[in-house]
Amino acid sequence: MVTRTQIIDQGHKLGFEDVGFTSAAPFYDHKNLLDEMAQAYDWADGVGLDLKNGVNPDSILPGAKTIIVLIEPYFNRSYPPAMEAHFGRCYLDDDRVTKDGLARRIKAFRQFLRDAGIESRVPFNLPHRVAAARAGLGTFGKNCLFYSNKVTRGGSWTLPIAVVIDQKFSPGDPTVRTECPSWCKNACIAACPTRALKGNSRIDPKRCISYLTYFGEGITPLELREPMGMYVYGCDRCQNVCPRNQPWLAKQLPPNERVAAKAADFDLHLLLHMDITYFESRIWPHMFYMGSDTIWKWKMNVARVMGNSRDERYLPDLEQVFNESCDDRVKGMAAWAMGQIGHKKTGLLLKDLAKNHTGQVLEEILLALQSLGGKTSP
Ligand code: SF4
Ligand code: SF4
Repeated sequence: MVTRTQIIDQGHKLGFEDVGFTSAAPFYDHKNLLDEMAQAYDWADGVGLDLKNGVNPDSILPGAKTIIVLIEPYFNRSYPPAMEAHFGRCYLDDDRVTKDGLARRIKAFRQFLRDAGIESRVPFNLPHRVAAARAGLGTFGKNCLFYSNKVTRGGSWTLPIAVVIDQKFSPGDPTVRTECPSWCKNACIAACPTRALKGNSRIDPKRCISYLTYFGEGITPLELREPMGMYVYGCDRCQNVCPRNQPWLAKQLPPNERVAAKAADFDLHLLLHMDITYFESRIWPHMFYMGSDTIWKWKMNVARVMGNSRDERYLPDLEQVFNESCDDRVKGMAAWAMGQIGHKKTGLLLKDLAKNHTGQVLEEILLALQSLGGKTSP
Protein backbone atom coordinates (compact mmCIF):
# COMPACT_ATOMS: atom_id res chain seq x y z
CA MET A 1 0.00 0.00 0.00
CA VAL A 2 1.44 3.33 -1.08
CA THR A 3 1.74 5.93 1.68
CA ARG A 4 0.73 9.60 1.76
CA THR A 5 4.41 10.57 1.91
CA GLN A 6 5.23 8.44 -1.13
CA ILE A 7 2.44 10.16 -3.09
CA ILE A 8 3.76 13.60 -2.08
CA ASP A 9 7.30 12.59 -3.02
CA GLN A 10 6.12 11.34 -6.40
CA GLY A 11 4.26 14.61 -7.02
CA HIS A 12 7.42 16.58 -6.27
CA LYS A 13 9.51 14.23 -8.39
CA LEU A 14 7.21 14.99 -11.33
CA GLY A 15 7.66 18.73 -10.86
CA PHE A 16 4.52 19.67 -8.92
CA GLU A 17 5.56 22.20 -6.33
CA ASP A 18 3.06 21.39 -3.63
CA VAL A 19 0.80 18.42 -2.96
CA GLY A 20 -2.17 18.18 -0.61
CA PHE A 21 -5.14 16.00 0.27
CA THR A 22 -8.78 16.65 0.99
CA SER A 23 -11.75 14.35 1.36
CA ALA A 24 -14.04 13.62 -1.55
CA ALA A 25 -17.01 15.15 0.29
CA PRO A 26 -19.26 17.20 -2.00
CA PHE A 27 -18.55 20.94 -2.30
CA TYR A 28 -21.89 22.03 -0.85
CA ASP A 29 -20.94 25.70 -0.41
CA HIS A 30 -19.80 25.85 -4.00
CA LYS A 31 -23.06 24.29 -5.13
CA ASN A 32 -24.96 26.97 -3.22
CA LEU A 33 -22.82 29.64 -4.88
CA LEU A 34 -23.55 28.20 -8.33
CA ASP A 35 -27.28 28.09 -7.52
CA GLU A 36 -27.20 31.67 -6.29
CA MET A 37 -25.30 32.83 -9.37
CA ALA A 38 -27.09 30.58 -11.85
CA GLN A 39 -27.57 33.39 -14.35
CA ALA A 40 -23.93 34.47 -14.20
CA TYR A 41 -22.80 30.93 -15.01
CA ASP A 42 -25.50 29.97 -17.53
CA TRP A 43 -22.88 29.95 -20.32
CA ALA A 44 -20.90 27.07 -18.82
CA ASP A 45 -23.04 24.17 -20.08
CA GLY A 46 -22.88 25.59 -23.59
CA VAL A 47 -19.08 25.26 -23.61
CA GLY A 48 -19.15 21.73 -22.20
CA LEU A 49 -18.39 22.69 -18.59
CA ASP A 50 -20.85 20.90 -16.33
CA LEU A 51 -20.05 22.88 -13.17
CA LYS A 52 -22.95 21.47 -11.15
CA ASN A 53 -21.84 17.90 -11.66
CA GLY A 54 -18.32 18.88 -10.60
CA VAL A 55 -19.37 19.66 -7.04
CA ASN A 56 -19.83 15.97 -6.27
CA PRO A 57 -16.61 13.95 -6.68
CA ASP A 58 -18.63 10.74 -6.40
CA SER A 59 -20.34 11.55 -9.71
CA ILE A 60 -16.88 11.87 -11.29
CA LEU A 61 -15.50 8.65 -9.82
CA PRO A 62 -18.03 6.38 -8.09
CA GLY A 63 -16.61 5.40 -4.72
CA ALA A 64 -14.37 8.50 -4.59
CA LYS A 65 -12.68 8.85 -1.19
CA THR A 66 -9.99 11.53 -1.55
CA ILE A 67 -8.91 14.39 -3.77
CA ILE A 68 -5.19 14.86 -4.23
CA VAL A 69 -4.35 18.42 -5.24
CA LEU A 70 -1.18 19.07 -7.20
CA ILE A 71 0.01 22.66 -7.42
CA GLU A 72 1.48 23.56 -10.78
CA PRO A 73 3.03 27.02 -11.26
CA TYR A 74 2.17 28.25 -14.75
CA PHE A 75 4.46 31.25 -14.49
CA ASN A 76 7.81 29.97 -13.31
CA ARG A 77 9.59 31.16 -16.43
CA SER A 78 9.35 34.59 -18.01
CA TYR A 79 7.21 35.27 -21.06
CA PRO A 80 7.95 37.63 -23.95
CA PRO A 81 6.55 41.06 -22.95
CA ALA A 82 4.51 41.27 -26.19
CA MET A 83 2.74 38.04 -25.21
CA GLU A 84 2.06 39.21 -21.64
CA ALA A 85 0.64 42.47 -23.00
CA HIS A 86 -2.10 40.77 -25.01
CA PHE A 87 -2.72 37.35 -23.45
CA GLY A 88 -3.42 36.08 -19.94
CA ARG A 89 -0.32 34.27 -18.66
CA CYS A 90 -2.22 31.11 -17.75
CA TYR A 91 -2.99 30.55 -21.45
CA LEU A 92 0.53 31.02 -22.76
CA ASP A 93 1.89 27.54 -22.13
CA ASP A 94 -1.38 25.60 -22.04
CA ASP A 95 -0.89 22.06 -23.40
CA ARG A 96 -4.44 20.75 -23.03
CA VAL A 97 -4.55 20.18 -26.81
CA THR A 98 -0.91 19.50 -27.64
CA LYS A 99 -0.46 17.31 -24.52
CA ASP A 100 3.29 17.71 -24.67
CA GLY A 101 4.05 19.25 -21.27
CA LEU A 102 1.92 19.23 -18.13
CA ALA A 103 -0.40 16.55 -19.56
CA ARG A 104 2.49 14.06 -19.65
CA ARG A 105 3.33 14.71 -16.01
CA ILE A 106 -0.31 14.29 -14.94
CA LYS A 107 -0.40 11.05 -16.91
CA ALA A 108 2.78 9.84 -15.19
CA PHE A 109 1.30 10.72 -11.79
CA ARG A 110 -1.87 8.79 -12.56
CA GLN A 111 0.20 5.84 -13.78
CA PHE A 112 2.05 5.87 -10.45
CA LEU A 113 -1.33 5.73 -8.66
CA ARG A 114 -2.58 2.98 -10.98
CA ASP A 115 0.54 0.91 -10.30
CA ALA A 116 -0.28 1.27 -6.62
CA GLY A 117 -3.83 -0.02 -7.23
CA ILE A 118 -5.47 3.43 -7.02
CA GLU A 119 -8.10 4.50 -9.56
CA SER A 120 -8.13 8.20 -10.46
CA ARG A 121 -9.89 10.90 -12.51
CA VAL A 122 -8.75 14.44 -13.34
CA PRO A 123 -11.97 16.36 -14.01
CA PHE A 124 -12.08 19.89 -15.44
CA ASN A 125 -15.38 20.76 -13.81
CA LEU A 126 -14.45 20.14 -10.16
CA PRO A 127 -13.91 23.43 -8.24
CA HIS A 128 -10.15 22.90 -8.21
CA ARG A 129 -9.28 26.13 -6.39
CA VAL A 130 -11.71 25.35 -3.58
CA ALA A 131 -10.29 21.81 -3.44
CA ALA A 132 -6.78 23.27 -3.05
CA ALA A 133 -7.90 25.54 -0.21
CA ARG A 134 -9.80 22.68 1.42
CA ALA A 135 -6.57 20.69 1.29
CA GLY A 136 -4.88 23.54 3.18
CA LEU A 137 -2.59 24.57 0.33
CA GLY A 138 -3.54 28.23 0.23
CA THR A 139 -6.22 30.90 0.59
CA PHE A 140 -8.24 33.23 -1.63
CA GLY A 141 -7.86 36.84 -2.65
CA LYS A 142 -10.69 39.30 -3.13
CA ASN A 143 -10.09 38.83 -6.84
CA CYS A 144 -11.46 35.28 -6.32
CA LEU A 145 -8.13 33.71 -7.20
CA PHE A 146 -6.27 31.06 -5.23
CA TYR A 147 -3.03 32.10 -3.55
CA SER A 148 -0.66 29.26 -2.80
CA ASN A 149 1.05 29.04 0.60
CA LYS A 150 4.35 27.84 -0.79
CA VAL A 151 4.50 28.24 -4.56
CA THR A 152 5.40 31.39 -6.55
CA ARG A 153 6.22 33.11 -3.24
CA GLY A 154 2.62 33.00 -2.09
CA GLY A 155 1.25 34.30 -5.38
CA SER A 156 -1.72 33.41 -7.55
CA TRP A 157 0.30 32.13 -10.53
CA THR A 158 -0.61 28.51 -10.00
CA LEU A 159 -2.95 25.95 -11.43
CA PRO A 160 -4.31 23.53 -8.81
CA ILE A 161 -4.94 20.12 -10.38
CA ALA A 162 -7.54 18.02 -8.60
CA VAL A 163 -7.03 14.25 -8.84
CA VAL A 164 -10.04 12.31 -7.53
CA ILE A 165 -9.06 8.87 -6.20
CA ASP A 166 -10.83 5.85 -4.74
CA GLN A 167 -8.71 5.41 -1.62
CA LYS A 168 -8.72 7.19 1.69
CA PHE A 169 -5.85 9.36 2.90
CA SER A 170 -5.84 11.79 5.80
CA PRO A 171 -6.84 15.30 4.68
CA GLY A 172 -5.00 18.57 5.29
CA ASP A 173 -6.45 21.31 7.49
CA PRO A 174 -8.79 23.42 5.33
CA THR A 175 -7.89 27.07 4.71
CA VAL A 176 -10.96 28.07 2.67
CA ARG A 177 -10.89 31.78 3.49
CA THR A 178 -9.99 35.11 1.97
CA GLU A 179 -6.72 36.34 3.40
CA CYS A 180 -5.80 39.75 2.05
CA PRO A 181 -3.69 42.19 4.05
CA SER A 182 -5.81 44.89 5.68
CA TRP A 183 -3.53 47.59 4.27
CA CYS A 184 -4.35 46.62 0.67
CA LYS A 185 -7.12 48.99 -0.27
CA ASN A 186 -8.78 46.51 -2.60
CA ALA A 187 -6.31 47.19 -5.40
CA CYS A 188 -7.73 44.41 -7.56
CA ILE A 189 -11.30 45.67 -7.31
CA ALA A 190 -10.26 49.22 -8.15
CA ALA A 191 -8.11 48.03 -11.04
CA CYS A 192 -10.67 45.78 -12.70
CA PRO A 193 -11.55 47.80 -15.80
CA THR A 194 -14.93 46.17 -16.41
CA ARG A 195 -16.12 46.12 -12.76
CA ALA A 196 -16.28 42.34 -12.76
CA LEU A 197 -15.13 42.08 -9.13
CA LYS A 198 -17.99 42.68 -6.77
CA GLY A 199 -16.03 43.37 -3.59
CA ASN A 200 -17.55 40.52 -1.60
CA SER A 201 -15.14 37.88 -2.93
CA ARG A 202 -17.52 37.35 -5.82
CA ILE A 203 -16.98 37.84 -9.50
CA ASP A 204 -19.46 38.40 -12.29
CA PRO A 205 -17.80 36.11 -14.86
CA LYS A 206 -19.69 37.67 -17.73
CA ARG A 207 -18.08 41.04 -17.05
CA CYS A 208 -14.57 39.60 -16.77
CA ILE A 209 -12.35 40.44 -19.74
CA SER A 210 -11.21 36.82 -19.95
CA TYR A 211 -14.80 35.67 -20.53
CA LEU A 212 -15.57 38.59 -22.83
CA THR A 213 -12.59 37.90 -25.08
CA TYR A 214 -13.45 34.29 -25.82
CA PHE A 215 -17.10 33.72 -24.88
CA GLY A 216 -18.58 37.19 -25.47
CA GLU A 217 -21.40 37.24 -28.01
CA GLY A 218 -21.67 39.68 -30.89
CA ILE A 219 -19.61 42.80 -31.39
CA THR A 220 -18.09 43.98 -28.09
CA PRO A 221 -20.36 46.67 -26.61
CA LEU A 222 -19.03 50.18 -27.08
CA GLU A 223 -18.68 50.87 -23.36
CA LEU A 224 -16.37 47.84 -22.89
CA ARG A 225 -14.02 48.39 -25.82
CA GLU A 226 -11.68 50.86 -24.14
CA PRO A 227 -11.77 49.17 -20.69
CA MET A 228 -10.81 45.85 -22.32
CA GLY A 229 -7.65 47.62 -23.39
CA MET A 230 -4.79 45.64 -24.86
CA TYR A 231 -6.01 42.13 -24.04
CA VAL A 232 -6.82 39.84 -26.98
CA TYR A 233 -7.42 36.68 -24.91
CA GLY A 234 -7.61 36.59 -21.12
CA CYS A 235 -6.64 39.29 -18.62
CA ASP A 236 -4.12 39.47 -15.76
CA ARG A 237 -4.80 42.95 -14.48
CA CYS A 238 -6.18 42.03 -11.04
CA GLN A 239 -3.18 39.77 -10.51
CA ASN A 240 -0.62 42.27 -11.72
CA VAL A 241 -1.73 44.94 -9.24
CA CYS A 242 -2.04 42.60 -6.26
CA PRO A 243 0.55 43.12 -3.51
CA ARG A 244 0.47 39.39 -2.77
CA ASN A 245 1.91 38.85 -6.24
CA GLN A 246 4.68 41.43 -6.08
CA PRO A 247 7.33 39.16 -4.52
CA TRP A 248 7.08 36.82 -7.51
CA LEU A 249 6.81 39.61 -10.09
CA ALA A 250 10.06 41.05 -8.69
CA LYS A 251 11.91 37.77 -9.26
CA GLN A 252 14.23 37.38 -12.23
CA LEU A 253 12.91 34.33 -14.07
CA PRO A 254 14.61 32.32 -16.80
CA PRO A 255 12.86 32.59 -20.18
CA ASN A 256 10.13 30.17 -21.21
CA GLU A 257 11.65 28.91 -24.46
CA ARG A 258 8.51 27.06 -25.58
CA VAL A 259 6.48 30.26 -25.49
CA ALA A 260 9.30 32.36 -26.95
CA ALA A 261 9.42 29.94 -29.91
CA LYS A 262 5.77 30.49 -30.82
CA ALA A 263 5.55 34.21 -29.92
CA ALA A 264 6.06 35.36 -33.53
CA ASP A 265 2.91 33.46 -34.59
CA PHE A 266 0.87 35.64 -32.22
CA ASP A 267 1.92 38.93 -33.83
CA LEU A 268 -1.16 41.19 -34.05
CA HIS A 269 -0.76 41.75 -37.80
CA LEU A 270 -0.73 37.97 -38.47
CA LEU A 271 -3.70 37.33 -36.18
CA LEU A 272 -5.77 40.03 -37.87
CA HIS A 273 -5.31 38.58 -41.35
CA MET A 274 -5.01 34.85 -40.56
CA ASP A 275 -6.98 32.26 -42.52
CA ILE A 276 -8.46 29.05 -41.13
CA THR A 277 -5.37 26.99 -42.00
CA TYR A 278 -3.08 29.36 -40.12
CA PHE A 279 -5.49 29.51 -37.19
CA GLU A 280 -5.89 25.75 -36.92
CA SER A 281 -2.19 24.98 -37.22
CA ARG A 282 -0.56 27.82 -35.26
CA ILE A 283 -3.08 29.33 -32.87
CA TRP A 284 -5.87 26.93 -31.95
CA PRO A 285 -3.58 24.20 -30.51
CA HIS A 286 -2.42 26.71 -27.88
CA MET A 287 -5.54 28.84 -27.29
CA PHE A 288 -8.60 26.81 -28.10
CA TYR A 289 -11.61 28.38 -26.39
CA MET A 290 -12.62 29.87 -29.75
CA GLY A 291 -12.87 27.44 -32.66
CA SER A 292 -12.56 27.99 -36.41
CA ASP A 293 -16.21 29.02 -36.59
CA THR A 294 -15.49 31.97 -34.32
CA ILE A 295 -12.27 33.16 -35.93
CA TRP A 296 -14.09 36.50 -36.32
CA LYS A 297 -13.80 36.95 -32.56
CA TRP A 298 -10.02 36.76 -32.76
CA LYS A 299 -10.01 39.38 -35.50
CA MET A 300 -12.51 41.60 -33.70
CA ASN A 301 -10.43 41.45 -30.51
CA VAL A 302 -7.22 42.22 -32.38
CA ALA A 303 -8.87 45.16 -34.18
CA ARG A 304 -10.02 46.51 -30.79
CA VAL A 305 -6.50 46.18 -29.39
CA MET A 306 -5.06 47.98 -32.41
CA GLY A 307 -7.56 50.80 -31.88
CA ASN A 308 -6.69 51.04 -28.20
CA SER A 309 -2.97 51.13 -29.10
CA ARG A 310 -3.50 54.54 -30.80
CA ASP A 311 -0.69 53.43 -33.12
CA GLU A 312 -1.05 54.90 -36.60
CA ARG A 313 1.03 52.08 -38.05
CA TYR A 314 -2.01 49.82 -37.67
CA LEU A 315 -4.23 51.93 -39.92
CA PRO A 316 -3.34 50.05 -43.16
CA ASP A 317 -4.03 46.74 -41.35
CA LEU A 318 -7.42 47.96 -40.19
CA GLU A 319 -8.35 49.26 -43.60
CA GLN A 320 -7.27 45.95 -45.13
CA VAL A 321 -9.28 43.81 -42.70
CA PHE A 322 -12.29 46.06 -43.19
CA ASN A 323 -12.13 45.41 -46.92
CA GLU A 324 -11.23 41.71 -46.82
CA SER A 325 -13.59 40.56 -44.05
CA CYS A 326 -17.14 39.41 -44.77
CA ASP A 327 -18.06 39.66 -41.10
CA ASP A 328 -19.89 42.80 -39.96
CA ARG A 329 -18.53 42.44 -36.42
CA VAL A 330 -14.95 42.54 -37.70
CA LYS A 331 -15.71 45.39 -40.10
CA GLY A 332 -17.50 47.31 -37.36
CA MET A 333 -14.64 46.94 -34.90
CA ALA A 334 -12.09 47.86 -37.58
CA ALA A 335 -14.03 51.07 -38.24
CA TRP A 336 -14.18 51.81 -34.50
CA ALA A 337 -10.45 51.16 -34.19
CA MET A 338 -9.64 53.52 -37.06
CA GLY A 339 -11.71 56.16 -35.30
CA GLN A 340 -9.79 55.58 -32.06
CA ILE A 341 -6.43 56.01 -33.75
CA GLY A 342 -7.53 59.09 -35.60
CA HIS A 343 -5.91 60.46 -38.74
CA LYS A 344 -6.96 62.99 -41.34
CA LYS A 345 -6.82 60.38 -44.09
CA THR A 346 -8.91 58.02 -41.95
CA GLY A 347 -11.73 60.53 -41.89
CA LEU A 348 -11.77 60.67 -45.67
CA LEU A 349 -11.56 56.90 -45.92
CA LEU A 350 -14.40 56.34 -43.43
CA LYS A 351 -16.60 58.86 -45.25
CA ASP A 352 -15.93 56.97 -48.45
CA LEU A 353 -16.74 53.60 -46.85
CA ALA A 354 -19.95 55.00 -45.40
CA LYS A 355 -21.33 55.39 -48.92
CA ASN A 356 -21.26 51.65 -49.55
CA HIS A 357 -22.41 50.24 -46.23
CA THR A 358 -25.61 49.97 -44.26
CA GLY A 359 -26.83 48.62 -40.91
CA GLN A 360 -24.39 47.80 -38.11
CA VAL A 361 -21.30 48.57 -40.19
CA LEU A 362 -22.60 51.98 -41.20
CA GLU A 363 -23.47 52.72 -37.56
CA GLU A 364 -19.92 51.89 -36.53
CA ILE A 365 -18.47 54.03 -39.32
CA LEU A 366 -20.60 56.99 -38.22
CA LEU A 367 -19.54 56.44 -34.61
CA ALA A 368 -15.92 56.30 -35.69
CA LEU A 369 -16.30 59.53 -37.63
CA GLN A 370 -17.83 61.13 -34.55
CA SER A 371 -15.00 59.97 -32.31
CA LEU A 372 -12.40 61.18 -34.81
CA GLY A 373 -13.52 64.66 -33.81
CA GLY A 374 -10.55 66.69 -32.66
CA LYS A 375 -8.00 63.90 -32.63
CA THR A 376 -7.22 63.78 -36.34
CA SER A 377 -3.59 64.35 -37.17
CA PRO A 378 -2.30 65.40 -40.59
S1 SF4 B 1 -9.14 39.17 -14.99
FE1 SF4 B 1 -9.33 41.34 -15.60
S2 SF4 B 1 -11.48 41.68 -16.04
FE2 SF4 B 1 -11.33 39.73 -14.93
S3 SF4 B 1 -11.66 40.28 -12.80
FE3 SF4 B 1 -9.46 40.39 -13.12
S4 SF4 B 1 -9.03 42.53 -13.73
FE4 SF4 B 1 -11.23 42.17 -13.92
S1 SF4 C 1 -5.23 43.25 -4.62
FE1 SF4 C 1 -5.47 43.40 -2.40
S2 SF4 C 1 -7.63 42.88 -2.05
FE2 SF4 C 1 -7.11 42.18 -4.13
S3 SF4 C 1 -6.49 40.03 -3.92
FE3 SF4 C 1 -4.63 41.28 -3.79
S4 SF4 C 1 -4.33 41.66 -1.61
FE4 SF4 C 1 -6.43 40.98 -1.87
